[in-house]
Amino acid sequence: MNGPLPDEMIPVRRPHFHVKASALYFLISRKPHTSLDDSEKAIWYAIDGRTSVADLRRRFAGLDKVLNRFASLGTCELPPTAFPSRRRRVLVIEPHMDDAALSLGATMWLRRNDCEFTVLTMAGISNFTSYYEVDRDFFDTAHVTSLRKAESALFVQHVGGHHITLDLLEAPLRYRNDRWTLDWFLLHRDAMWTLVARSPGPGELEEWTAALSRFFTRLDAEEIWMPLGVGNHVDHQLARDACLQILSTAELIKGRKVRLYEEVPYTVHWRGHADRVVAALRNAGARIEQHRINIAEAMTRKLELLSIFGSQFKLDFVKPAVERAGDEVLYELEVPPNKAIDPVSCYVDGDRVFDLAQKIGPWMRRHKSASMVRLFVNTPFGRWAQDMRLLLDLFPQARFEIFIARRRIVETDTLSSPRIRIRPVERGGWNSAAGRLLFSWPSPLVIVAGADKERHARWLSASCVASDSIVAPSLNVFTLALRRASAI
Ligand SMILES: [Zn+2]
Repeated sequence: MNGPLPDEMIPVRRPHFHVKASALYFLISRKPHTSLDDSEKAIWYAIDGRTSVADLRRRFAGLDKVLNRFASLGTCELPPTAFPSRRRRVLVIEPHMDDAALSLGATMWLRRNDCEFTVLTMAGISNFTSYYEVDRDFFDTAHVTSLRKAESALFVQHVGGHHITLDLLEAPLRYRNDRWTLDWFLLHRDAMWTLVARSPGPGELEEWTAALSRFFTRLDAEEIWMPLGVGNHVDHQLARDACLQILSTAELIKGRKVRLYEEVPYTVHWRGHADRVVAALRNAGARIEQHRINIAEAMTRKLELLSIFGSQFKLDFVKPAVERAGDEVLYELEVPPNKAIDPVSCYVDGDRVFDLAQKIGPWMRRHKSASMVRLFVNTPFGRWAQDMRLLLDLFPQARFEIFIARRRIVETDTLSSPRIRIRPVERGGWNSAAGRLLFSWPSPLVIVAGADKERHARWLSASCVASDSIVAPSLNVFTLALRRASAI
């Protein structure tokens, strides 16, 4: 910033830093972010998010220079304080505490003097940080939640907005809502990520919809911006599906303009998925118009705002996808849907579910009294207990033999039953496991080999010629098809 800082400006420290000796450190980093002399240290402690520049200036000589240095190092924010009154009240619903900034940060910045934004995060309880990716022990839910709330609050301060959350658990915590240790995380990581990329499980959509409906009864906004749920992150799917449920309840929307937005960076990695969701809305009678917002003039500002979310990503990591996404995309809902939307029609793998459901219906009817069902599963489950409960219910007389990699047995402690027998497969032992299968008594057989092993799955299915087998690309598609075919 050139020239003296405005008197009324209130500096805010970024929430990631702490002082140790004569330096600032980022969270649990062992490397100092910057060194501080005694007067800088005194100023750092005096920045409390309430005291104005004018008041601080009375106490410290050279304040402006130090604040500008803190800001340029990304340790302190200097948000504007004055915004026009009577701006249009816009509610932005986001799945996680960063999606509004990633998807709409530039649009919100460009419209900050016309719109008073309230960002509502649905998954308001989280232990996710980018430390997940570097195997560091940083999983305290209360600490991470407050850190992420502070980041979101800082972001909305720049656009003169507000941030609020619903108390819904983020997906990793729905895998296990407890204090994680690094050892536990390393054992369960694959299964947890599998859950994150599955579609909503039983009861989840109901819970998210109920929480959003309760919020809507006290809503004060003229416009509502909802996520399209682009990609396969279960929380984005849940946020979208809950919003679609709200749309079908006319009195919750009454008279408010509704827009839907494409999530960045998902829209870069899942090209065409937004079109699929929009088509599902149109098929249900909605009239919906796309508006692309050219954000070229605000891209630099958007990236600066994104750098606030230091617990989630380094800017270098997210910048290429944000730049590749370019425009921010909003869809104006001119006429809401007049029919219910089948959530599966919005899923990225929805067509595969519809296809498999056709085949699996007759297979289920042939084997509803089977005494043995075998599963050969080459992926983590992510939802072992729910998946097995479904199978136990659908095949009430069957015992189950589950062939599963030994290292993936960790997640099976969430449900055990005398009817379930686990057959561990050693690393690289798939051929011998397949051999055991070939020479065992024929039974209904389910083969879930994972996306890159579908040829192997078909080979195994053809080899086990006496067993009536179903090949599924994933447990997600398999269980959705099962539920659909059995209508439970
Ligand atoms: Zn998200």
